[in-house]
Amino acid sequence: SGEKKKKIGAKVELVLLGDSGVGKSCIVLRFVRGQFDPTSKVTVGASFLSQTIALQDSTTVKFEIWDTAGQERYAALAPLYYRGAAVAVVVYDITSPDSFNKAQYWVKLQKHGSPDIVMALVGNKADLHEKREVPAQDGIEYAEKNGMFFIETSAKTADNINQLFEEIAKRLPRPSP
Ligand code: GDP
Ligand code: MG
Repeated sequence: SGEKKKKIGAKVELVLLGDSGVGKSCIVLRFVRGQFDPTSKVTVGASFLSQTIALQDSTTVKFEIWDTAGQERYAALAPLYYRGAAVAVVVYDITSPDSFNKAQYWVKLQKHGSPDIVMALVGNKADLHEKREVPAQDGIEYAEKNGMFFIETSAKTADNINQLFEEIAKRLPRPSP
């Protein structure tokens, strides 16, 4: 029944954070619409999309996704984004060490959020391996130290995009029976 499928929780608020240009909007578009638009426009403020996924145990999770603008001037809004979120996905670009530093800055701002928020660190643009400047090992180690889930994705090729959201769903706290 519909009731049974709500086991995990009908709605999961997810916020995407990270520097401008790392591919946050492209990740969301790939996940929600299965598309990649190389001419996508800069996100101003924040935009909202939702997508439901089915898990192997036949439960569903509806992600309500807040795609933020990563410009530093919006950092003041970080506590606001983190506050209501069950999941925070912090994205950097594997070709940009600067974006990896910014990602760490966003993770530090999470202090304002709930202590049981699920945190993911995402190294995007994994298709640009010839231009890679952030070793996967750096992402793995930083994520481990900060209790985050880590994955490298490509919104362009769709590599690991669904896996990112499936792995997050698996890590959501389950309501007690
Ligand atoms: P945002 O500012 O973080 O939302 O970044 P966007 O989603 O607007 O993407 C910024 C730029 O990076 C755009 O030109 C995208 O086409 C490009 N981009 C995004 N994801 C990828 C990816 O996985 N691979 C490659 N090669 N380019 C990407
Ligand atoms: Mg954007």
